[in-house]
Amino acid sequence: MKIGIPRVLNMYENYPFWQKLFAECSFEVLLSPESNMELYQKGIASVMSDNICFPAKLVHGHILWLIEAKVDRIFYPIVQKEAKEWDAASNSFNCPVVSGYPEVIRSAIDPEGNYGIAFDKPVMSFHDIDILRTQVYNYFQTLGIDKERFDTAFDTAWDFRNETKNNLIINQKELLKKCLESGEMVFVVAGRPYHADSLVNQKVGQILADLGITALTDDVFLEPQPKEPPKSKRFRLAERFGIGFKRLNMVSQWSYPNRVVHAAMEVAKLPDNVQLIQLNSFGCGPDSFYMEEISQILRQAGKNHTVLRIDEIASPGSIRLRIRSLIESLKTAKG
Ligand code: SF4
Repeated sequence: MKIGIPRVLNMYENYPFWQKLFAECSFEVLLSPESNMELYQKGIASVMSDNICFPAKLVHGHILWLIEAKVDRIFYPIVQKEAKEWDAASNSFNCPVVSGYPEVIRSAIDPEGNYGIAFDKPVMSFHDIDILRTQVYNYFQTLGIDKERFDTAFDTAWDFRNETKNNLIINQKELLKKCLESGEMVFVVAGRPYHADSLVNQKVGQILADLGITALTDDVFLEPQPKEPPKSKRFRLAERFGIGFKRLNMVSQWSYPNRVVHAAMEVAKLPDNVQLIQLNSFGCGPDSFYMEEISQILRQAGKNHTVLRIDEIASPGSIRLRIRSLIESLKTAKG
């Protein structure tokens, strides 16, 4: 059976886990391709709200691509919460757009009713490992997978998830350490996991690299995941870094935006060669109040808060110009 997975929103966070889990249970997985304008335009006619953020609008094209690829089922779970990364943060919800978009797709495209392709959108939550295991098993049971096989596959997939996250975190920590030792300029580009989509981020990382600047993501400030299989009831990481959340003026309840705030708190403690760029999608609800908080944290440390508003623009020229001016102004301030 071929399972289609759209390369969108929260899939940028949990895809390694899902891919491994399906593969271990002998399913073939087909991931939709990287976004491009053609893929975006393929789905635009079914977008139900003009003012929804660009990462959400992109989902439609990816789902239609999977339908055209004639997969047997499309898997796009409703993930309400991610793993709780800081005890001091009040919660780890996904934004309602992220968690609710499978429902939007069901009504806007209806893969099952209109195309005869099963559309699976089970409700999941990553904040509690026992609950996650039960929820995922309930779904895999419907695909004919027995408990013994599922449990082995689940543990393997969880280890793989941790391993891929750790590679990302550890490699970036090494790069940051080098930049701190050498004093060279480094930018932490903070946003959402799906801002890794180069159509969404307008190639910010590449632009920085072309200008000779090291670009990291907010993952650099996460702590590596524990090696052993998940046994504890709650899964958390980096608890000891969470203290600053209690001092914020907002409710720190959104998982991905919390990482941006945390990144700002960490950048604020570091020397001036470490700066933060925040990626912001037009129409983003959580960012409308998180941004002010991030701005304050950085201003108190005497640092710039650079926000790059990214949307469905076809040319990254203005982004390049903005980054160049930022770098030049930082050099001038330093000189
Ligand atoms: S957090 Fe913002 S950018 Fe992300 S899905 Fe929600 S509204 Fe869109």
